[in-house]
This record gives sequence, C-alpha cells and structure tokens, in this order.
Amino acid sequence: MNEHPTESLSAYVDQELEAEERRRIEAHLLHCASCASLVDELIDMRSEIAGFYSQLTAPPDLEFKVLSALDGRLAKSAGTSTGLTAVSLVALAALIVLIVMYGATFFKLFSIALQFSLTAAYVLSNVASSIPAVWGAVLPLCAAIFVLSGLSLRRILRSTAP
Ligand SMILES: [Zn+2]
Repeated sequence: MNEHPTESLSAYVDQELEAEERRRIEAHLLHCASCASLVDELIDMRSEIAGFYSQLTAPPDLEFKVLSALDGRLAKSAGTSTGLTAVSLVALAALIVLIVMYGATFFKLFSIALQFSLTAAYVLSNVASSIPAVWGAVLPLCAAIFVLSGLSLRRILRSTAP
C-alpha cells in the first residue's frame, strides 16, 4: 500500500470505520511511521479536548440567572407593543415558512404581479400623459402613499426594537 490513508485516520481514531477499512488502516500503520505518528497526535488531541471539556462545568445558578433575566425582559416589555411585536414576528415567521415551502409558486405569483403592475403602469402613464389633470391627482396620491408607508415602517421598526 503506497498511498497514506490520511483522510481516514481521524475516523479511525474515532472508531467510525467499517471493519474492513479498519483492518486496512491497521495494516498500513504497522509499516508507515508517519501515519502512525499522525494517529498518535490525533489520539493526544482527542484526549486533550476531552480533558478540557470535562473541566468545564456550568455555575450552579446559571439556569436560575438565565430564567430570571428572561423574566425581567418579558416583564419590561409587557406593554401593548409586545402583542403587536409578537404578532408581527409570528406573521414574519409564517411568511418565511410559506416562502420556503412555496418559493417557486411565490416567485411565479410575484412575476405575474410584477408584469400586471408594469402593464398597469404603462396603461396609466399613457392615459395620464393624454390627460394632464390626472397627473395632478396621481402624483400627490403617490407622494401620500409613500409618506404613509414610510411612517408605518418607522413605527413597526420602533415597536420591534429591543
Ligand atoms: Zn502512511
């Protein structure tokens, strides 16, 4: 065997190999010093990591601290905006799920809507250019819609801010 099975050595150390592959590695390790030392290093590293994690223990009051911090945050934000925030978060999550599940359909609907609004805009602009008075009504309406959506967006952002 000329090739060093370096990719399999980690799995060998973790004992994740099939019996046949395992025997192949063991046979290789018998006459390949570089792979054998690599296996030694891997074993050392594993035991170091294991030793490090076994030293880590959570402070006994961690759970209590986390829970009381959550309680405090919930109590602090228990105003009228909380319900609204929760509703909008749920709606957002539902929207994301819908997009993930029906992404292709959404895209189709979106492109149809886009085509429709482009056609509508085209027709409208043709009509509007022939009647200057229509522009006088449409432009302030557009401006009003723009300002209103900006305001409501700002309110939404403010109510969802922590
Ligand atoms: Zn080797």
